[in-house]
Amino acid sequence: MARSDTFEFVHVTRIVAGPGTSDQAGDELRALGATRAIVVTDGGIAASGILSKLEPGLKRAQIAYDIFDEIEPNPAAAAVERAAEQARAAGADAVLAVGGGSPIDAGKMVAVLAKFAGAVRDYEGINTIAEPTLPLVAIPTTVGTGSEVTRGAVITDTSRNAKMVCVSPHVFPRVAILDPDLLENLPPHITAATGMDSLTQAIEGYVSRGANPISDALNLEALRLIAENLRLAVARNDSEAMAKMQIATTMQGIGFHNAGLGLVHAMSNTAGGMFGTAHGVTNAIILPHVMAFNVSSDPRRFARIAEAMGEPIDGLSVRAAADRAIEAVRILSEDVGIPPTLGDIGVDPAAIPEMARAAKGAIDAPTNPRHFTEVDIVALYRRSFGMPD
Ligand code: NAD
Repeated sequence: MARSDTFEFVHVTRIVAGPGTSDQAGDELRALGATRAIVVTDGGIAASGILSKLEPGLKRAQIAYDIFDEIEPNPAAAAVERAAEQARAAGADAVLAVGGGSPIDAGKMVAVLAKFAGAVRDYEGINTIAEPTLPLVAIPTTVGTGSEVTRGAVITDTSRNAKMVCVSPHVFPRVAILDPDLLENLPPHITAATGMDSLTQAIEGYVSRGANPISDALNLEALRLIAENLRLAVARNDSEAMAKMQIATTMQGIGFHNAGLGLVHAMSNTAGGMFGTAHGVTNAIILPHVMAFNVSSDPRRFARIAEAMGEPIDGLSVRAAADRAIEAVRILSEDVGIPPTLGDIGVDPAAIPEMARAAKGAIDAPTNPRHFTEVDIVALYRRSFGMPD
């Protein structure tokens, strides 16, 4: 796998981290010149009591705010457009996104549409946003995605059951606030799903054709932290393990968006767009199959993944050590309760040909480390259903 010696590494978002830091959201918005924010979130967050933790800080900083809490997982463009409408009507001059990847991605596009109008689909693709948007402060409440530090937003176009990806330097949140106190009531199945999302992105980012030494350092350390802490985080919401998962998630976010992803995301986003499946769970089911397909592209990299995940590889050949990485991922998935097949999460195998066609052209596919054909993707989907090739 040839990687270029020439690379670019971009990190824009200021990170504020630690217990209680979400109380500073108002001060951060004020420092960005804001006086009136639109809070973009979802019903689960609204019901969780997290917003009431933010209120005193917003009031102290004299930030007026309106709340839009109708974002759903795999956020639909229509909801984003309604939120932008509300933001414009209220005269919002900043966006505060609170939640997992769905509200943060939605918040990114609300910041675009509230400033420039139009529909989400007008901004699909790469570098379609010409100027700075409304400033965005992101507060992640899951341990997956890393959207709080990336320049991409993933929004579902329900009219064609497809996920649109919008990538622009203007999409970066200006500030990410990582407050582990907000994770104390994260349900274990969401910790598992989103933690496996972070793991997937760290691995895909590390083996990507676009990987570079700086993204490697971030992705490998994120992997180490995830392998050490995800089980404990899921089993009993251990506060230290959750805090480490949160940091690992942000690290891999910076890592993967400077490296690119690969076939897991190409396949998973396609399935998620068509069937509305949870992003992290879909990734986790597909991941070991794509790793087994990709391992021959650079077994040394896969051996280093095994090492970062704490596998005992001393004395093994590089190829045998590489296989330990795949096994380690399978066992971790099982331990945190990820179902084994795509059929278990409601994906219809009849859609395999259509999904394979779409995944082949997906934005994440070109950086996959091994060359592939549509026939390969069909086989990978079949394996992810537990079917023979
Ligand atoms: P999510 O935002 O869809 O949230 C899942 C569920 O968790 C929701 O029901 C929510 O209410 C609940 N929840 C979140 N935090 C909670 C908390 N602290 N307590 C209780 N409930 C809580 O999940 P996600 O996996 O974080 O985000 C997935 C989305 O992110 C997908 O649409 C995916 O495509 C996108 N994504 C974006 C990027 C990027 O860089 N922009 C990267 C990867 C994935």
